Amino acid sequence: MTTIVDLRSDTVTQPTLAMRIAMTAAPLGDDVFGDDPSVNALQEKIAAMLGFEAALFVPTGTQSNLCAILSHCQRGDEYIVGQFAHCYRWEGGGAAVFGSVQPQPLPHQADGTLALEDIEAAIKPDDAHFARTRLLALENTLGGKLLPFAYVQQATHLAKCKGLARHLDGARLFNAATAQAALTGADVRAEARRIADCFDSVSVCLSKGLGAPVGSVLCGNLEFVARAHRIRKMAGGGMRQSGMLAAAGTYALDHHLDRLAEDHALAIRLAEGLTGLPGLQVEPPQTNILFVDLVGPAKERSAELLEHLKAHGILATGLYRLRFVTHLDVDAAGIDRTIATITRFFSA
Ligand SMILES: *Cc1c(COP(=O)(O)O)cnc(C)c1O
Repeated sequence: MTTIVDLRSDTVTQPTLAMRIAMTAAPLGDDVFGDDPSVNALQEKIAAMLGFEAALFVPTGTQSNLCAILSHCQRGDEYIVGQFAHCYRWEGGGAAVFGSVQPQPLPHQADGTLALEDIEAAIKPDDAHFARTRLLALENTLGGKLLPFAYVQQATHLAKCKGLARHLDGARLFNAATAQAALTGADVRAEARRIADCFDSVSVCLSKGLGAPVGSVLCGNLEFVARAHRIRKMAGGGMRQSGMLAAAGTYALDHHLDRLAEDHALAIRLAEGLTGLPGLQVEPPQTNILFVDLVGPAKERSAELLEHLKAHGILATGLYRLRFVTHLDVDAAGIDRTIATITRFFSA
């Protein structure tokens, strides 16, 4: 049996044996009473790593963003956000549905940023006609793109000067930090900290590139996390012996940060292997997500290509614009098999 090369998402990773052992060994309590030592340890660890007073362990990134937006905003407030941001486009409109908080979506520039002029123009004056603009929400990485650090500083500085709170959907913060570290030569932890320093709150997914089975963490100051804690309870996210899950997150922070660079290298390996094939337009990847557009006559064969890949044990997503995501359950052999399988498809 050939092994499956699952490039659909970095969420598909299985906990490693060592991670499972850490989960099994985790001391547990009832986190609704606040006495699960493994949850508390994770929260303290990530807060310290990113330079915040406190953190909250939540079941999903979606709930984390919801808790963040509803903690920063009241009914009738709005948040400025990118058109393609997860917390606008991919979360069922949760902030509007549950919080009566209105999104103010803005178009992205080619590099994933929101133009500073657009942000400034979107901030409403204090006038009864308008929602109260309360929050700027950025996402890094966005679609696998690293937001330039100078931009992150400028946009968050602008927001602060205008009295807005600043939230980072850093589901893949450590991928961003890894890419940034490759540019600066600094450590991934130092870069994560530098990015986080620009924000009032940061959400990080443990269940993506970090390889934990479940969970996200939301960081902020004590007051903010106290509000988020109340909202998490309302959202049904108060968990009990969740230390088993938190222990996987702690294990991931201890053992899986430095290896994210390997995922990025594999994405580049795949991009290089596919570059030059007729009908493929390969976007050079900055992190662990590779987009490949099918153009010309190849476009008509998009669904057929995905089927062909599947028949050979290789999974990807997209139509016309294919997405390949590398992660800790993919290796160089799997990437080379993917390149060979696609090459054969187009030469047949
Ligand atoms: C995956 C993701 C989320 C949501 O995480 P879930 O755990 O799937 O709810 C939020 N933001 C971004 C940028 C993501 O990639």
